[in-house]
Amino acid sequence: MTITSWLAASRRTVVLTGAGMSTESGLPDFRSPRTGLWARFNPSELATIDALHHRRESFVEFYQYRIRTLQQCQPHDGHRLLADWERRGIVQTIVTQNVDGFHQEAGSRRVIELHGSLRTVHCQRCGQTKPSFVYLHGVLTCECGGVLRPSVVLFGEPLPEKAIMEAWEAAQQADLFLVLGSSLQVSPANQLPLFAKRNGAKLVIINWEPTDLDDLADAVIHGRKIGEVLNELERQLTEAAE
Ligand code: NAD
Repeated sequence: MTITSWLAASRRTVVLTGAGMSTESGLPDFRSPRTGLWARFNPSELATIDALHHRRESFVEFYQYRIRTLQQCQPHDGHRLLADWERRGIVQTIVTQNVDGFHQEAGSRRVIELHGSLRTVHCQRCGQTKPSFVYLHGVLTCECGGVLRPSVVLFGEPLPEKAIMEAWEAAQQADLFLVLGSSLQVSPANQLPLFAKRNGAKLVIINWEPTDLDDLADAVIHGRKIGEVLNELERQLTEAAE
């Protein structure tokens, strides 16, 4: 059996994406040596509630940089293909660790964002939400006087409960679970493939580097770009349908 035939046969395919899904859009991932965000910044110091309150300038600078970078990038063909697969009933749910909103921009509708979104900022006090570009214009406080912060999950904060519940449910029901571009180092996202597998799903991992879950997977693809692999799968799906 090939990945293509699993895709064609599956009734509930869940895709888990990580930062590697968006590197082909020009966004750096986190942990890749040299090119990853961690090579330039220390997120465990900057992406925290403590930094929001006590190292405001560095916090704001870090997120202004990320929001500006996001504005300069767009979804790539791989994002668009996943959206197309959803329309054609090949993919049912995307669970993403990414905060870039590219899946939705590309047309995917059923997207569960585990780590929030960098598309908006919101007030720590009253909860009012604004588009994140206001941060670039130096709008850092709300009309109510509260602090505006990106709507992403900061280190030390709990993940959004609804998103987590929905992600577990999707993983439990999956009969095919596809990981795209995640080092699978971050919990609880890295528990989802395990959970899906334990509940009978086939597990496929497509990631440039090896991950700790590779031994469990039914198929693993390393050293190839996600966009290229997805396009190849699409070609095979089309050929099989002809
Ligand atoms: P990651 O950087 O840990 O892993 C990305 C993986 O994608 C790498 O293993 C890399 O080899 C692979 N990759 C990169 N480009 C690829 C391509 N074109 N094709 C195939 N593979 C490719 O990212 P992650 O797994 O998403 O990290 C988990 C989460 O941790 C993040 O999504 C993020 O929410 C969170 N995190 C947040 C911060 C922060 O600043 N708030 C910092 C670190 C991690």
